[in-house]
Amino acid sequence: MSSEERFDAVVLGGGLLGCFAARHLTSYKLRCALVEAREDVCTGISRGNSAIVYTGCDNKSGTLKARLCVQANRTFEALCAQLGVPFVRRGSLLVSYGPRGDQVVRRKYRQGRDNGVENLEILTGAQAEAMEPGLAPGISCALLAPGTGVTDPWALCFAACENAQANGCRVWRNAPVTALAREGANWIVTAGPHTLRAGAVLNCCGLNAHRVQELCTSPAVRVIPDRADYLVLDQPAGPFVRHVIFQEPEQKGKGLTLVPTTDGKLLLGPSEQPGGEASDRAVTAQGLDFLRSRAARVVPGLDLSQVIRAFGAVRPNPFHVRREGEGWVPEERGIHSFAIEHPHPGLWSLIGIKTPGLTCADALGAMLAGEAAAYLGKDAPNPEFDPCRTPPPRPRDLDLPARRALVQANPAYGRVVCRCEDVTEGEILEAIRRGAVTLDGVKRRVGTGLGRCQGSWCADRVLELLSRELGLSPWEVTQDGPGSPLLGGERRDL
Ligand SMILES: Cc1cc2nc3c(=O)[nH]c(=O)nc-3n(C[C@H](O)[C@H](O)[C@H](O)COP(=O)(O)OP(=O)(O)OC[C@H]3O[C@@H](n4cnc5c(N)ncnc54)[C@H](O)[C@@H]3O)c2cc1C
Repeated sequence: MSSEERFDAVVLGGGLLGCFAARHLTSYKLRCALVEAREDVCTGISRGNSAIVYTGCDNKSGTLKARLCVQANRTFEALCAQLGVPFVRRGSLLVSYGPRGDQVVRRKYRQGRDNGVENLEILTGAQAEAMEPGLAPGISCALLAPGTGVTDPWALCFAACENAQANGCRVWRNAPVTALAREGANWIVTAGPHTLRAGAVLNCCGLNAHRVQELCTSPAVRVIPDRADYLVLDQPAGPFVRHVIFQEPEQKGKGLTLVPTTDGKLLLGPSEQPGGEASDRAVTAQGLDFLRSRAARVVPGLDLSQVIRAFGAVRPNPFHVRREGEGWVPEERGIHSFAIEHPHPGLWSLIGIKTPGLTCADALGAMLAGEAAAYLGKDAPNPEFDPCRTPPPRPRDLDLPARRALVQANPAYGRVVCRCEDVTEGEILEAIRRGAVTLDGVKRRVGTGLGRCQGSWCADRVLELLSRELGLSPWEVTQDGPGSPLLGGERRDL
């Protein structure tokens, strides 16, 4: 079905940045829409990251990145409370084992203080080891940042999208932007079968943002991706460290990061591997070896037999570029802040938004929506805007009487489908109602398949529910969108 509609503002891309930009557009009296290329939102960079809510110590003073990160960190509890998303302020330790690392600790301490980060403290090695006895001895000093938090990036992205929709934003999935042109004061966006006219366009296409901008004008910044690997350890390993740990290596390069997640697991990573394409989510053997060998040195007592999953991610490194022949060559000059291009009136492009993009998604969304509303001359607040979203019921978080009442009202909440994570049929049906169309779409919303058995127990039941609820044949249900069939090939013959 095709459509041609007029909007005030259209957001391109349904990652964290696009969903939060859409959410904030609805806080003005604007007619707005979001178009996402894939079958679901939260399938790009936002789907695989470290889940850390940074304080702002790592960002160059005076940059937009530093200012937004500090501001966003302070208000993250309130944001997560509005949207019904998990958030835990675990605090972080940046640990050093020698003189090079010590310099980094001192530099980040000064930078953090200059940026306005509160309660930073430089600890002695003995203090850090007492706080985190699982770390290898020999720490020379550490930077304690009590404000560092962890959240659930998937829940955050879905919540922002749902909140935008609840406040009137139209959301189209399966709508890749293939043309973007100026016609008088309007932008004409061709997205899948839809043609949208809008006064303002916010290009939040992640790894693809430079290509989307290229549809109308050449970007000054392009994304040159590299890859990252992660290991996930099951809940028994979760409490091995209490804080988020950043290990600063003595040689130039990447250290180890350990993240005790909001659901009690432990995340190790990311590694840093060169190369990679926007669509390449495979893990690399070198990256996983790096993580294991680093873990053996930094957390020697950590039981790596608790690893239940490895996953790959892609970093959207932004570079100023120059043309050389047919290709692009990255310039030496570094980019220390968010790369936001504003090449024409009414068009904003976020190109290669790296860490701390998750932390700053809401703040960046607010900033861009405000600029777009002012440009359109429609910056009066929407009196009906409701920043809160009702999260779906999670029986496992309820006490017994509340869980019993929920099951009485809807028996599907009494049928456990994923035993590892205690997820019920009622939650899966609600996830599908809220937009999940793949096995991973359900997983990211309710946690099926995230536990020790990684879905061997529940995948067929989730597939059955997706097939029934969406009116698809089981052969059409996919793991994670096109090219990832669950049934087929030899299994199909069986
Ligand atoms: C390894 C790694 C670890 C990170 N860790 C952290 C962290 O701990 N804390 C933190 O604050 N930040 C972190 N970040 C940064 C954060 O994850 C990103 O800044 C954020 O997710 C970027 O979101 P996005 O919306 O720009 O991109 P995406 O999530 O990729 O969204 C872009 C969307 O645009 C869609 N799209 C692409 N092309 C088109 C098209 N033609 N038409 C329509 N739609 C299109 C894509 O399908 C995608 O859904 C990390 C990043 C990486 C890579």
